[in-house]
Amino acid sequence: MAHYIPENLPNRIQHYIDGEFVDSISGSTFDVLDPVSNQNYATAAAGQQEDIDRAVASAKRAFDFGPWPRMLPRARARVLHGIADAVEAQDSRLAELETFDTGLPITQALGQAQRAAENFRFFADLIVAQSDDTYKVPGRQVNYVNRKPKGVAGLITPWNTPFMLESWKLAPALASGCTVVLKPAEFTPLSASLWASIFEEAGLPKGVFNLVHGLGEQAGDALVKHPDVPLISFTGESSTGQTIFANCAVNLKGMSMELGGKSPAIVFADADLDAAIDSTLFGVFSLNGERCTAGSRILVERPIYAEFLERYAARAKNIIVGDPHDERTEVGALVHPEHYDKVMSYVEIGKSEGRLLAGGGRPDHLPDGNYVSPTVFADVAADARIFQEEIFGPVVAITPFDTDEEALELANGVRYGLAAYIWTQDLTRAHTFAQAVESGMVWLNSHNVRDLRTPFGGVKASGLGHEGGYRSIDFYTDQQAVHITIGDVHTARFGATAPDDAAPVVTANP
Ligand code: NAD
Repeated sequence: MAHYIPENLPNRIQHYIDGEFVDSISGSTFDVLDPVSNQNYATAAAGQQEDIDRAVASAKRAFDFGPWPRMLPRARARVLHGIADAVEAQDSRLAELETFDTGLPITQALGQAQRAAENFRFFADLIVAQSDDTYKVPGRQVNYVNRKPKGVAGLITPWNTPFMLESWKLAPALASGCTVVLKPAEFTPLSASLWASIFEEAGLPKGVFNLVHGLGEQAGDALVKHPDVPLISFTGESSTGQTIFANCAVNLKGMSMELGGKSPAIVFADADLDAAIDSTLFGVFSLNGERCTAGSRILVERPIYAEFLERYAARAKNIIVGDPHDERTEVGALVHPEHYDKVMSYVEIGKSEGRLLAGGGRPDHLPDGNYVSPTVFADVAADARIFQEEIFGPVVAITPFDTDEEALELANGVRYGLAAYIWTQDLTRAHTFAQAVESGMVWLNSHNVRDLRTPFGGVKASGLGHEGGYRSIDFYTDQQAVHITIGDVHTARFGATAPDDAAPVVTANP
């Protein structure tokens, strides 16, 4: 298949501030590559401190004086449903741009575009149905919660499924009545620009949504440190999260952090093996393995280990790697040559740490572009780097175990704690294991399929705070407690007695 280039591809990607597309004040730009040819196809505005200042000023004006934070939930929800309609109406265009920019297989990019629309619908419905707490203290007080949007939200997102992950933050932030400045990942700035026209058409007031492109250490850093941005929602690597955490501390900002993962899939001997193999293949090789919740460590109980390896490796070798725009493609091109080099370096490390059963390098039929064959290592020890470190590519480490205790120790023996996938027919074992595993989310007999009401987030180095459903609304709002007196209040009457009438004060010797 010839390299597919979408029609009307922009060659200049700009910021969007206060309702206008603009360049950086300094005029600086950075190059954007497509991962199939690794050619520059566009330049994007590289935001600096002064561009962030402009965007934050616009968002702050819209927050302090504009209608958005003051609208009835129903009125905001109508706009959010309009956004969802617009995303759905152009899901194919969104998917083709996303695929071109990220290298994600087109069928999977389409699913992500639809999920982005669903995020807006979900939060539109949630704010209309939302209730807040009221407490009655008989004869004395009524207390109620006055929920208020926090202000200008700084949203910083990564390059894997960029549009969907942006929607994940934009939808609850806007639903809550916040105004926003979004700083998308520099590898994949293309689809973020589409939000501007989608929001304008849906009737989002000017200045509520602002977009600044640029490098993390410049635009991202300026957003994190800006005194008029009281909260930062960040998704990205754990090490970046640590830097942002420290920088937020100076202004005591609210933070939500969705970070890296090295999630285990644990397959017990009594599992439905057909389903487990389908699911654990999809769990690590979907989205090119560039997936925070990838089940990138598979722990298999010894009696089925040999059979599992044979069947798993045979299927991995069959996975179709190719042009991301081809609908048959199952694994596309990794996002960027820098990331490709990182993943390839782990493939090389793996060759001395495990037994290579499939893949192990670039597919022969794809001499150019960031392609990596689905790679399977068996017999990987718990202290191996490919067992411990997030690779974020189509590479899986498989390790045998003999007892439930050993499986739990292996599962928990990494710094991360995002997801876990447990495969067994034994109800007691499933729940005992699920409750003991150190992860923010657990799936029993399934890969990652998530209802939007459920909490999303990790423990340990995988994150701080949980988003999802009302938890996201809690993050973007303050819950002010208002206490109303309806009866007599006992008040000690300080100063009611004149000092001369008072008994002499006896003081102890100092
Ligand atoms: P990254 O941390 O390199 O970058 C993420 C974003 O942070 C980018 O927009 C980047 O420009 C910005 N950034 C970088 N340095 C910054 C700084 N000093 N101050 C402010 N912003 C800064 O991550 P990535 O490589 O883009 O994404 C991959 C990572 O994201 C993986 O670790 C993956 O597991 C994680 N991820 C986690 C989740 C989750 O929900 N837990 C979801 C998707 C991805």
